[in-house]
Amino acid sequence: MAKKVEMAKKQDMPKESKYVYSFGAGTAEGHADMKELLGGKGANLAEMANLGIPVPPGFTITTEVCTLFFGNKGKYPPGVKDEVEAALRKVESTMGTTFGDPEDPLLVSCRSGARRSMPGMMETVLNIGLTSKTIPGMIAKTGDERFVYDAYRRLIMMYSDVVMEKAAGVEPAGERGIRLQLEEELEAAKHRKGVHLDVELGAEDWKALVEVFKAKVKEVLGKPFPDDAMEQLWGAIGAVFRSWNGKRAVSYRRIEGIPDDWGTAVNVQAMVFGNMGDDSATGVAFTRNPATGENIFYGEWLVNAQGEDVVAGIRTPNPLNRDCKTPDTRHMASLDEAMPKIYKDLDRIRTRLEKHYRDMQDIEFTIEHHRLWMLQTRTGKRNGAAAVRMAVDMAQEKLISKEEALLRVSPAQIDEFLHPMVDPTAEKKATALAKGLPAGPGGAAGRVVFTADDAEAWAKRGESVILVRNETSPEDVHGMHAAAAILTAKGGMTSHAALVARGWGKCCIVGCGSLNIRAASKRVDVKGITLSEGDWITLNGTKGVVYQGQIPLLTADPKKNKWYKQLMTWADQIRRLGVWTNADRPIDAQTAREFGAEGIGLCRTEHMFFDPARIRAVREMIVAETVEARRTALAKLLPFQRDDFMGILEAMKGLPVTIRLLDPPLHEFVTLDGAQTVELAGDLGVPVEKLQARIQQLHELNPMLGHRGCRLGIAYPEITEMQARAIFEAAAELLKRRVKALPEVMIPLVGQPSEFTHQEDIIRRVATEVAKEKKVKIKYHVGTMIEVPRAALVADKIAERAEFFSFGTNDLTQMTFGFSRDDVGGFLPEYLQKKILPRDPFESLDQVGVGSLVAMAVQRGRSARPDLKIGICGEHGGDPESVEFCHRVGLDYVSCSPFRVPIARLAAAQAAARDAIKAKAAGKAAAGSAVKAKAKARTVSTV
Ligand code: ADP
Ligand code: MG
Ligand code: MG
Repeated sequence: MAKKVEMAKKQDMPKESKYVYSFGAGTAEGHADMKELLGGKGANLAEMANLGIPVPPGFTITTEVCTLFFGNKGKYPPGVKDEVEAALRKVESTMGTTFGDPEDPLLVSCRSGARRSMPGMMETVLNIGLTSKTIPGMIAKTGDERFVYDAYRRLIMMYSDVVMEKAAGVEPAGERGIRLQLEEELEAAKHRKGVHLDVELGAEDWKALVEVFKAKVKEVLGKPFPDDAMEQLWGAIGAVFRSWNGKRAVSYRRIEGIPDDWGTAVNVQAMVFGNMGDDSATGVAFTRNPATGENIFYGEWLVNAQGEDVVAGIRTPNPLNRDCKTPDTRHMASLDEAMPKIYKDLDRIRTRLEKHYRDMQDIEFTIEHHRLWMLQTRTGKRNGAAAVRMAVDMAQEKLISKEEALLRVSPAQIDEFLHPMVDPTAEKKATALAKGLPAGPGGAAGRVVFTADDAEAWAKRGESVILVRNETSPEDVHGMHAAAAILTAKGGMTSHAALVARGWGKCCIVGCGSLNIRAASKRVDVKGITLSEGDWITLNGTKGVVYQGQIPLLTADPKKNKWYKQLMTWADQIRRLGVWTNADRPIDAQTAREFGAEGIGLCRTEHMFFDPARIRAVREMIVAETVEARRTALAKLLPFQRDDFMGILEAMKGLPVTIRLLDPPLHEFVTLDGAQTVELAGDLGVPVEKLQARIQQLHELNPMLGHRGCRLGIAYPEITEMQARAIFEAAAELLKRRVKALPEVMIPLVGQPSEFTHQEDIIRRVATEVAKEKKVKIKYHVGTMIEVPRAALVADKIAERAEFFSFGTNDLTQMTFGFSRDDVGGFLPEYLQKKILPRDPFESLDQVGVGSLVAMAVQRGRSARPDLKIGICGEHGGDPESVEFCHRVGLDYVSCSPFRVPIARLAAAQAAARDAIKAKAAGKAAAGSAVKAKAKARTVSTV
């Protein structure tokens, strides 16, 4: 449908375009699918009119006019004026009143409306058409002088603010805008009369105030308030267009990524009045509860009030019905009690709109003298819990399909289920201190500590703490674990802190450059504020924002939520991609299985090396200068590694466990200070100088590109031997105990086939040896990571021997861009801000560049080995857009940290759902189910 609009636009451009679309009296020229041209509000007003729902008549001036208006120095394209006047005549005839007519005047509102709603960013002017000529007619017609002057003062206030000040580009002196000054006059008038509320002012008071307002406008803005209806109308139309380029709207678009050239539409609509006495009212409502998703009509209303009053919070609004009364509002009359007949009409419209739009709607209504009018409908915003419940309920009500239900919930909303969240209401009022990269989602509040040891000590005392550091290293892990959250000044999305936190599902913000940490004095300066050890801060790790003080958190418990469970069941039924996890410890593997992981895609063996019980043997192995010495040290490590592998293989109960051989450069394990060096030399019985020389020898200028990955195993084959032995002995032991074990041995950092075969030979030899010794048949696979660009280029050659590929997209991104993962923090913020890069490529896969390598490697790899199993184990495996990419290029599975497993399951299901919907739309329903069946067969064969 959107296409239709595009085409209409192209064909009719430039001169013969239709610029104005009328609606009202049961019919409209536009419809809901014309949001691009008519804006969301206009398109939906048209749709409601077409449905026969009572909407005050009006017309929409298109977004195209907005674009032309700005392109032509604020001049309207020819034809617009005539079309507006013709459309206005139609409104007049529907209403039986005339704009500017002294006897029986029509009043209108002028409302903004972009394609996508930009709440509170753009302007609306009500009660246009009140002038010294029309006021007497209006009073005669309504018999209510107070009402007319009240409406008039509102017009002067809105118009002077929106049209005469903001749109005219007037910078108010001392930031005291005209609206504020008029509000002060109103307050002064109330004070003089000794009253507190607007309703306590009478006709004479408003009449007098209106004169004060007009004088003030003239004095402050140097121009009189216009006393001509037509002049008011065009002033308001121009101002609404101009509000598209207002400061607030522009910065909102930057944040939300809304293109500047969309433009806004303008809706001119006959006024209806909710402030005409006690048989009039106005309200806003949601067709279901947007906070819980419960299928009840939910909303607020005010008797004798005009639209904006409900949102403005001047009076406490009444609950819409008995269902949405709270202890605080129990005593207030609900609409179903006060106006039962109207409520019934409204409830019928609610059902009608939901059936029609097939989604929860957010609506505005006004009741004028017992007559109901609808003023707006749009798809309502909702939180995660509500989104999940509504999607499942609606699918079960057969309002939408299961595929649509899956697409209704964003991965971020699923994330809300898995972590405690910062209470959004309290967050709005909190002081933001700094912004960094959102490395670990969820919220956390705690007291600032600066060292891992302090974090642990404080946590032991039962304190909630946040570990604040420049960066973290493997030595900080105990403190990171004890802390409620981690905050670092440096590092990117794949820095140590980020990886570790994500693995634990812990809230974490990294690369928060505006923090000036003075670790020595246990202080941190930020934004002119100094925080000391023990001060409270709160992190929103989903957004990357640090707040001062303690903000309440909302907890979540996915296991108790039946809608969530249902949705995830549907997700698993439809998805083609397998979802595995990156886990190094049995406990993480267990968590991941509870979240639905179907295998381990990456188990990093070196993470087990840092344990205090082993690090000595590790160091001994590293500083060894002879093969014999190295073997002796390795023999000490073997039992530890075997136990680790047994634990993790057992936790996965026969699901594949991909174990990566030693990967990091050795020097990482021997960063020692003077005292530690002396101690280690003593332990090993070697002279300190000799040890220092060896450590010096290991030093590399560029360790990321240095002696690491399979290069270690090639230089020291005994390391590979030991690791392979530990893996197969673990598997053999389990098999003997009748526990299924499926190890997949993964060789890291391969760039050429010969590297792979060298290591593979060792692994297979050891496997045969162990099988013979233990007299068991061990099932296993040997494969490789594809993380060096060269590996992607020669993937067909590697696949001749490798049984599986796993894309290590962290390194692949690093090496394809030539960006050091650990140093991107220095320039990435600039890159993002200046739009050199659309997104952090370590967070969301660079599909154009790195993605091409991935697609190519898939194609080349499968050309050599059609049943090659392919996955991804970089951080991208948990990023929804990257998951969709993996689905598209035909990967078998994605592997991500345990807490992202549900997100990946949903993202994989959404990719499949989109395919299914497309296939259905193309009328290929039969072909679609065949694809699904084939995909199912493949997923099964991989597990
Ligand atoms: P926003 O997009 O900020 O909600 P709206 O254009 O919806 O702005 O208008 C603000 C308020 O004025 C709303 O409560 C709306 O219902 C009310 N309003 C707008 N036009 C009319 C009208 N023609 N008659 C009565 N109320 C109106
Ligand atoms: Mg509105
Ligand atoms: Mg790597």
